[in-house]
Amino acid sequence: MGRFYALFFLGFFSKYHQETPLEEIRFGPVVFIPGENRGRYPNCHSLYIEGKTKVLIDPGSNRERLIALKEGPGIDQIWLSHYHEDHIIYMDLFLDTELWMSEEDAPAMEKTEAIIDFYGIDDGEERTLWETFLAEGFNYKPRNVDGRFGNKVNSNGEIDLGGVKVTVIPTPGHTLGNVSFLFEELGILFIGDYDLLKFGPWYGDRDSSIEETIESVNKLRNIPAKVWIASHGKNIYYSNPGELWDSFLSVIDKRESDLLEFLGKPRTMEDIVDARIIYKKELEPKLFYNFGERALMKKHLERLMKTGVVKEDNGRFFRV
Ligand SMILES: [Zn+2]
Repeated sequence: MGRFYALFFLGFFSKYHQETPLEEIRFGPVVFIPGENRGRYPNCHSLYIEGKTKVLIDPGSNRERLIALKEGPGIDQIWLSHYHEDHIIYMDLFLDTELWMSEEDAPAMEKTEAIIDFYGIDDGEERTLWETFLAEGFNYKPRNVDGRFGNKVNSNGEIDLGGVKVTVIPTPGHTLGNVSFLFEELGILFIGDYDLLKFGPWYGDRDSSIEETIESVNKLRNIPAKVWIASHGKNIYYSNPGELWDSFLSVIDKRESDLLEFLGKPRTMEDIVDARIIYKKELEPKLFYNFGERALMKKHLERLMKTGVVKEDNGRFFRV
């Protein structure tokens, strides 16, 4: 049953998007490796850093290309911006390669139980489903994390790869241990899943946070750079994305005001999911999108209940 759903999910995503691939772009020692499906879920873009130490950031882009990089110039280390499944779909090629990521996100790569906990999935049956979804759809296999970024920075807060220096910038919110990467000398800022796309930010995992998402986006927009590269989407930005930062964050306000309006009458969690405030319409596979609706709406409910704007009575939420 679980297996059937997992395979169904994946078949759905891969058939969905067939478009001209983006091009690989080199910025000195840093190479943008475009993801399959134009970097849309279930893929993402990667960065290849050709220092003395050769690093691949987020092995979720293009299987053939990553095999060629591994066999050609070589890959000494894999770095992760965070643990999400679309960023690790080709990690199976690199199980023997050194892996570096943040301390906070590392447990998700080391234990299946941990990654499912991090996604915030409690229900036993649903956990089994996700286990299969991750293993069969995303080649997920628990593995050792060899290094934590915090342990490698020099006194300037940088990691020196020999010919290229990288600053790891903690940008929690999307996940607790989410990081962005700044190549200061080259003026390149890798903003990861704060991708400035219309959908808006994701903050639905157990330790995700709306407040931290806002802080991290504001932190990123104030970092001087010449090139901004996100994990998804068809654009690389050659000038500060400007208003796109605002419209990305304004999605949070829109979701919240839509929810508040909906809570003019008492509503159950199921009602809220069915209102499709996040995805706007019913999408297939339903189980996957229902999970997304619920996860993000839960964060908004928590936020609104904290300030007393929304209250709950007997499983029904309502605006005060
Ligand atoms: Zn993500």
